[in-house]
Amino acid sequence: MDRSPRATRARLASSTDAVWGVGGQIGVAVSKAVTNLGTIHIEILEALRSSPAGLDVYELRARLTEGGIQQHLDRRIRDLRDRYSIPRRKVGGRWVYIYEGELRTPAPDTGRISRTLRAEVLHRAQGRCQMCGRSVSEDDIKLEIDHKIPRSWGGETASENLWALCQSCNGGKRNYFANFDDEMMRRILSKRSVYERLSETLRLHLGRPTPSWLLEFVANSTDFQEDWHKRLRELRYPPIGLVIRATRRKNPSGKWESAYQLDVFKDLPENHKQLIKDHERRTRVGD
Ligand SMILES: [Zn+2]
Repeated sequence: MDRSPRATRARLASSTDAVWGVGGQIGVAVSKAVTNLGTIHIEILEALRSSPAGLDVYELRARLTEGGIQQHLDRRIRDLRDRYSIPRRKVGGRWVYIYEGELRTPAPDTGRISRTLRAEVLHRAQGRCQMCGRSVSEDDIKLEIDHKIPRSWGGETASENLWALCQSCNGGKRNYFANFDDEMMRRILSKRSVYERLSETLRLHLGRPTPSWLLEFVANSTDFQEDWHKRLRELRYPPIGLVIRATRRKNPSGKWESAYQLDVFKDLPENHKQLIKDHERRTRVGD
């Protein structure tokens, strides 16, 4: 196979036309629409905002720093229209774009992944499957963009909830997720306490390994957790008393992956956060 950077880019580009996302079809209304904007989008917005009379396409292009991308100006403006009112009007014999402000109700999350968002996710993945680490250039895989937390569980079509997976990992994940009840997962993921989200997810697998990546998603679903491993360890503190051990499991595509297994479940006390803090204070050694 041609492994030149150019050929790699070409394969990557063609793979972006594959099937996108899992579970989108069953999705109900999603909490809030987040539009992810690239630098070029922001430049367009700023240029238009500072020119209330509007800018024609040439004036607008002249304001943008990145030359190569200017031919996609129309598309960038379409992306922006998910969230902003930017009509094109004929003023004094020329067509200008006018910035009218944010849309009152953001466009509903249809699960559609805009080109900008797709490019951002692929760029972040650096040509590798974000689950198994195999690469487009070395392993002849294709990458698909996937919602980490499925839309049917309340996951958003936003940069933080998208990643690039090879077809085998994406298929395996889709089959694995099909075992879960959507309603239950929505309920778990909407819990405010990271401890509740983790313990409830482990409980669904009581006596069986829960893949680490699932725990990581769940931990980060409503607030970003810098150290979700530590949150798991905290659930093992005696006042909480969950019995959790590190293990591994064979994923549906036959590869080993790291996992955690819950062997003993206890309901989390209402004041679990305080109990965890108190325990840490008691056991802290000389700092
Ligand atoms: Zn993979």
